[in-house]
Amino acid sequence: MGLLERIFGDADLFNPNHEPPGSDKGGQFAPAREGSGSQAPVASDAQAKIGQREREIAAIKDHEVLYAVLRNGQEVKVDGTSNRVNLSMNEMDSGKWRGAVVTHNHPVTGNSFTPEDIYATHRGGFGEMHAVADLGGGNCVRYSIKPEASFFRQTIRQQIEDESASVFRENKKKIKAGTMTVDEADRAHYDMVWRRLDKALDGIMHYKVEAFNA
Ligand SMILES: [Zn+2]
Repeated sequence: MGLLERIFGDADLFNPNHEPPGSDKGGQFAPAREGSGSQAPVASDAQAKIGQREREIAAIKDHEVLYAVLRNGQEVKVDGTSNRVNLSMNEMDSGKWRGAVVTHNHPVTGNSFTPEDIYATHRGGFGEMHAVADLGGGNCVRYSIKPEASFFRQTIRQQIEDESASVFRENKKKIKAGTMTVDEADRAHYDMVWRRLDKALDGIMHYKVEAFNA
């Protein structure tokens, strides 16, 4: 019980950092593999640059790096700490980030977006938000959202908290029943939250999880 409380204490549900509530790096996470981009549309310049940077930053293990291509084509790089990149509220509200394609790495957990990632996307009006990680041996995962305009009119905070609480309750039951380990629940948590939130919003987030090689 002590362990469960430690891993799933309320404080950890909305960990402001990317620090994992558990311990490990998420090596068992196995997203569905996709073909080598065969069904992807012809990459724009921004997409090609982002893809190249993602292969680089996925390999960075000691700190987070945020990389973006703004809608005017300007490239921006922001170095963070081991578990976060800070963008100020002023920066967010400046309009500079509206429509930008933004990516960053999750070196510590390899897990999906944190709530802060989604809040930043919402507040800054990002065109796309990605998070990438090397799960081992150059096998990388990319989490992405490409929100439709109506996403930015949603008040998402309460919905995120509600989805997170229900995922938490369900996984806690599975852990108690022995059908899920604490590590599995930890790794799956936000992936499940974003899938459900996107579904609840009729797919306007376009949340995706893809594999790629670095
Ligand atoms: Zn993140």
